Amino acid sequence: MFDRFQRKITYLRVSVTDRCNLRCVYCMPEAGVAHKRRADILSYEEIEAVTRAAVELGVSKVRITGGEPLMRQGILSLVARLAVIPGIADFALTTNGVRLPRLASALREAGLHRVNISLDTLDPERFHAITRCGKLDETLAGIEAARAAGFQSVKLNCVIDTTPDEPDARAVADYGRQRGMEVRFIRRMNTGKGEFWPVIGGDGGRCDTCNRLRLSSDGRLYSCLFNDRSFSVRELGAHGAILAAVD
Ligand code: SAM
Ligand code: SF4
Repeated sequence: MFDRFQRKITYLRVSVTDRCNLRCVYCMPEAGVAHKRRADILSYEEIEAVTRAAVELGVSKVRITGGEPLMRQGILSLVARLAVIPGIADFALTTNGVRLPRLASALREAGLHRVNISLDTLDPERFHAITRCGKLDETLAGIEAARAAGFQSVKLNCVIDTTPDEPDARAVADYGRQRGMEVRFIRRMNTGKGEFWPVIGGDGGRCDTCNRLRLSSDGRLYSCLFNDRSFSVRELGAHGAILAAVD
């Protein structure tokens, strides 16, 4: 599946919920988040159908994300459903790690290949300030649980203001290096203003080689974070919405 710029579209990011157990300052308002209506949230059957259609059309990499994906009930059953789809070479999940002590082994057993865990600082007070309600120890326990669960890789996502030389980012880099974990540095984006940068240590944020499609938890396909146009899988069917978004 190629788009009009001859980019080969091979990567589907699936948001399974808009809810989260943290309130990171750069991601969500502190209070008053209007949640999507339950009836609008795709069922696991629907997510599986869209993922199967995407794989038929050439997607080989799938990432589950959110909100916080481990907040959605029955997430293990979704992982198990997607893990058996033939043609997915890379199957990952991005999480804040809080629920990994409970879920890491089961996610691995359900067939998940890899996890990315978000960690912006190793200072407990700064962690609490950034996430507004998080406890650093919980996320660190989640990281350890993931490392013990036998994933193909456990990587860290670290949001930075401007440079990986900031003290928080350097501490996260050292923490990762000591444990053999890759760290991706993501410069804080302002989606309202359309500000974004290439991910340091990753592939995101490079338009000329971007290979992604995004499925929102309410079943809309987006070709880009900065494009408001989206295509409903309920209205157009999975194939129709995927092809429309790519076009
Ligand atoms: N809740 C999960 C987590 O935090 O890892 C998954 C969803 S979260 C939206 C995915 C990634 O986007 C996280 O690594 C988070 O730090 C990052 N992120 C969220 N808002 C951002 C922003 N304004 N600029 C840059 N990265 C951001
Ligand atoms: Fe956003 Fe993830 Fe932070 Fe939740 S944990 S507020 S989804 S960045």
